[in-house]
Amino acid sequence: MARIVMKFGGTSVANVARIKAVAERVRAEVEAGNEVAVVVSAMAGVTNEFEGYVRETARLFDLREYDVVVSAGEQVTSGLTAIALQAQGVTARSWLGWQVPIRTDDAHGSARIEDIDGSEIVRRMGEGQVAVFAGFQGVDPQGRVTTLGRGGSDTSAVAIAAAVGADRCDIYTDVDGIYTTDPRVVTRAQKLAMISFEEMLELASQGAKVLQTRAVEMAMRHGVRVQVRSSFEAPTTETTPGTLVVDEDEIVEQQIVSGIAYSRDEAKITLTGVPDRPGVAAGIFGPLTEEHINVDMIVQNVSPSGEATDLTFTVRKGDFDRAVKLLQDRREQLGYQELRPDNNVCKISVIGVGMRSHAGVAQTMFKALSERGINIQVISTSEIKISVLVAEEYTELALRSLHTAYGLDAET
Ligand code: ADP
Ligand code: ASP
Ligand code: MG
Repeated sequence: MARIVMKFGGTSVANVARIKAVAERVRAEVEAGNEVAVVVSAMAGVTNEFEGYVRETARLFDLREYDVVVSAGEQVTSGLTAIALQAQGVTARSWLGWQVPIRTDDAHGSARIEDIDGSEIVRRMGEGQVAVFAGFQGVDPQGRVTTLGRGGSDTSAVAIAAAVGADRCDIYTDVDGIYTTDPRVVTRAQKLAMISFEEMLELASQGAKVLQTRAVEMAMRHGVRVQVRSSFEAPTTETTPGTLVVDEDEIVEQQIVSGIAYSRDEAKITLTGVPDRPGVAAGIFGPLTEEHINVDMIVQNVSPSGEATDLTFTVRKGDFDRAVKLLQDRREQLGYQELRPDNNVCKISVIGVGMRSHAGVAQTMFKALSERGINIQVISTSEIKISVLVAEEYTELALRSLHTAYGLDAET
């Protein structure tokens, strides 16, 4: 007997037929003698639809009300999943975030889970009742509904797994594991049997949406055994191999590069002729920080005269308009010549713990891109990652070329 958490994403609960199939899969685990908690997302597309209604209603809106609206999709699927289980003879009940309660901070729209008391759930699981959780939701200290950021039901699942001391947290989705890169873009991507927490954390934070970044962080912190697997294969209780996220030292054959991620959620701003004196960078980035606009990649070039520099940096697409306006409003004060906005860019990141001990990884990247005539606009690196910014139209070509250059292509 094991205690397991099974999480089903949007495509896995996209309609009633899929929800019935989910219930069958859960029933199989219950019949095998396991204690099961289920976490569901909203039906595919529903959260986007709700977000659209909010933006249509007002350009600027109260994030507390935004959370009330966008969390609603999970209420529907949790209830339907409980009904589908009951119809198959399985004792089950739904749990909304506030009912558990899943306590979060009050950062509406991307709240952090602070505490879950799993004792009542554990007691009921022990009696054979399946707990079906609405993912993505929580409740803040004022008792108001919060959401955990897009893709947040992965984090709900890992947090619940930690709270009930689950042996496993299975993330069921529309691909059968974690691949060397997005298999929907690069058909020769290879499925990984295992990936380290550190690498998955980088992949997720650089755009691989197969797991939410915070879910990986939480799994790492609490030692939750996370497995990504497909909900589209025939139900079975045998451990069909998905991808396990594990500690680095559990991986026997470590590759130099394990994966490549991309993010289209990037926009670039260049300020030309910025006066080259102390305090200027602070003058530019300070106001952005105050507006909670995150700056990611930064490059600075000194102009021939040595008196002025060009400064290029990236922000998220959603922050782009605000960032441009903020800097335009301060043009005189900052003293730059020109602001060049460009949101037609994509960030590609090559990730691998092997980079710590191997030289030449960046060179392979630069060579592969130059051979394809792809211009690198900005570069940034960390211990186990190299990211470059390229024009958005080159996304697929760059991904495929790098995948081949690092020897990641599957045999055909
Ligand atoms: P769910 O609705 O089940 O949470 P998501 O759409 O959030 O599913 O995440 C699954 C998707 O992540 C896949 O369909 C795939 O296109 C994408 N993806 C991106 N990078 C990877 C990767 N390295 N491995 C597997 N899937 C990836
Ligand atoms: N339904 C939410 C979203 O679309 C949460 C999730 O799918 O994980 O972001
Ligand atoms: Mg997801």
